[in-house]
Amino acid sequence: MPRPIEATVHASALTHNLGVARERAGGARVWAVVKANAYGHGIERCFEAQRQVADGFACIDLAEAERLRALDWRGPLLLLEGVFEPRDLELCSRLHLWHAIHAEHQIDWLAAHKTNLPHRVFLKMNSGMNRLGFAPQAFRAAWQRLVNLPQVEDVSLMTHFSDADATRLGADGIAHQLAAFEAATADLPGERSLANSAATLRHAQRPLAGGVNVAGDWVRAGILGYGGVPDYPEHDAAHWGLQPGMSLRAQVLGVQQLQAGDTVGYGSAFTAPGPMRIGTVACGYADGYPRHAPTGTPVLVDGVRSRTLGRVSMDMLAVDLSALPEAGVGSEVTLWGRSRQGAVLPIDEVAHAAGTIGYELMCALAPRVPVRLDE
Ligand SMILES: *Cc1c(COP(=O)(O)O)cnc(C)c1O
Repeated sequence: MPRPIEATVHASALTHNLGVARERAGGARVWAVVKANAYGHGIERCFEAQRQVADGFACIDLAEAERLRALDWRGPLLLLEGVFEPRDLELCSRLHLWHAIHAEHQIDWLAAHKTNLPHRVFLKMNSGMNRLGFAPQAFRAAWQRLVNLPQVEDVSLMTHFSDADATRLGADGIAHQLAAFEAATADLPGERSLANSAATLRHAQRPLAGGVNVAGDWVRAGILGYGGVPDYPEHDAAHWGLQPGMSLRAQVLGVQQLQAGDTVGYGSAFTAPGPMRIGTVACGYADGYPRHAPTGTPVLVDGVRSRTLGRVSMDMLAVDLSALPEAGVGSEVTLWGRSRQGAVLPIDEVAHAAGTIGYELMCALAPRVPVRLDE
């Protein structure tokens, strides 16, 4: 028997969650962002569920774009960071990939690219995040260069928010970037894409100059599609109506009875204050569970909330069974997501306890964990 640990990807939740994006986005079209192997869920595994709602797929790796075309996806497919070297443009021509243009060198490469099929590009503005993109004052010149190229068929406009999930300097987090984007693009034609999950959930209906709104023409739905919440703990999955896209479940392998003063695991990081019953679970950091999750991180045992105890080791962790006399070897432990009994432990809660975000936990699911698709 393989180790009793398994992740489940919930197809119906993926479809439902993208539907939430579609509703919030008003009339805008929805990219399902599937970078990082669909946030750890598996591109091929998620595809049928996501294509029911998605108008397009957005990724970063060219190999991911190839995988989507191999699934026979013929619709819009966007490379969010554009190409990494000139010959990547050959793949863009061959597979009809739309690609971001975030810097001058990418325009140079495109100008030298031989193609019969002009490309659709998304010109990216650095409106304040200072990661990728043209500064607002350089944006128009870049746009002009692109529209003059025979290799370019259409130029769309794009930017990315750094603080759509929060406030910044007392204002909602996007005001300064929105102002920069609008000022530099107000009179430019082309479709717009501004909103990630946080902006789609929190700001999509907000009007922009020129009769459009923050949703623009395309929203880029990443984390929300997988049931993760971009602005946890201010809001939770229930608030936004999102369902877990993935559950990670393991079983209790052994049970120990502790007396006051007994300790648990490496470094004796937990000391029993009195008699306790604990379970050792077949999940550790080599499965992608965060090693920094402290004592008290929530888990579900047979669908009932409990907590971890002591340090997470490579292949095991300990949970408190003191209040669960029925639990024992073989009991199901849900590390995040939905238990078989239906109870939900949001991934955001676990991530928060461990000092990280749901994104990181999903993406870090280890290859050794078998994954099952639940229709
Ligand atoms: C990852 C990414 C997104 C999606 O972000 P979420 O917060 O997961 O919705 C959107 N746009 C760009 C450019 C990205 O890199």
